[in-house]
Order: sequence, then structure tokens, then C-alpha cells
Amino acid sequence: MRDNDWTRVLGWPGYKVYRHEIDEPGKRLKLWVRRRRANKLLVCSGCGKPRGEIVASYEREVRDLPCFEYLTTVVVELYRVRCPDCGVTAEKVPLLPSKAPFSKRFEDAVGQACESAAASRVILIKRAKASEAVPSHKEALMARVENLAGVGSMPYLPHRA
Ligand SMILES: [Zn+2]
Repeated sequence: MRDNDWTRVLGWPGYKVYRHEIDEPGKRLKLWVRRRRANKLLVCSGCGKPRGEIVASYEREVRDLPCFEYLTTVVVELYRVRCPDCGVTAEKVPLLPSKAPFSKRFEDAVGQACESAAASRVILIKRAKASEAVPSHKEALMARVENLAGVGSMPYLPHRA
């Protein structure tokens, strides 16, 4: 597949794929993206105002949703901008809302999984007998997140004491 096709499949508005790497045995896909030329309006992450002066560029690696069997990592080219109000700051990127190494849609998917994990836990608690340990909320969440991230396939079962 050409980078152009990966750009369409990835679907990050305003960004294009300029390099890709497929690790077949490791089942990992890595895409390098940068802004399209038409998408050069940079916004200061401090004050949210448009700022044009680029001071430096750098790369950030984030996890995006898996593509079929492949864990997907996106390496994004980002800019630091000079803002008269805030000094030198990172540009604001709507696709990367937090400092966590995940894309927005990855975080949204984890959020949804967490909601259903919370619901599953309620059912489990109802089922659990008094003598059995109930999985903590955190354990349930981590199991979901790991499943989603493809880290492992932890069965979502209560631990027995
Ligand atoms: Zn600013």
C-alpha cells in the first residue's frame, strides 16, 4: 500500500502519511504523519490563539486504534510555536487532547470500554458470593484496556481469594 492510501485509511484530518513500516512477525504497524501544506494554521496550546512562528519541530509517538491484527503506532510531527503571551509552547492538536501517548479516538474507545467494564463489574458483584473476592474497579479497567490495546488477552474473571 502506498503512503497515499495509508493517509486515507488512517483518516487524520489535515495530516498525511509520509512513511510506513509493517512488522509482520510482531504484528505492528507504524505510520509517520505530518501536516498537509494547507493545514499550517498553528494554535498555541497555552492560550488557544493562532500563532505562526515555528520555533522547532519534534516527533511524538501515540497509539491509535489497531488495524486488523496489527497494533498501530502513529509518529506525528509537531511544532513548538512562539507565542507573545505564553512564550514557546507546543502547538495545540485536537487529535491529541492529552499528554498520554494515545490518539483521541483510542482514548474514546478506552473510555467506552471502561464504561462497559463498570457495568460488567456490577453484574459480577451481584453474582459473587460473600466468600469470593470481587475484582477491583481498577483491575477490571486494566483488563479492558489491555484487551483493547492488544497487550494480552486477560480473561475478565474475578480473582478468587
Ligand atoms: Zn499562547
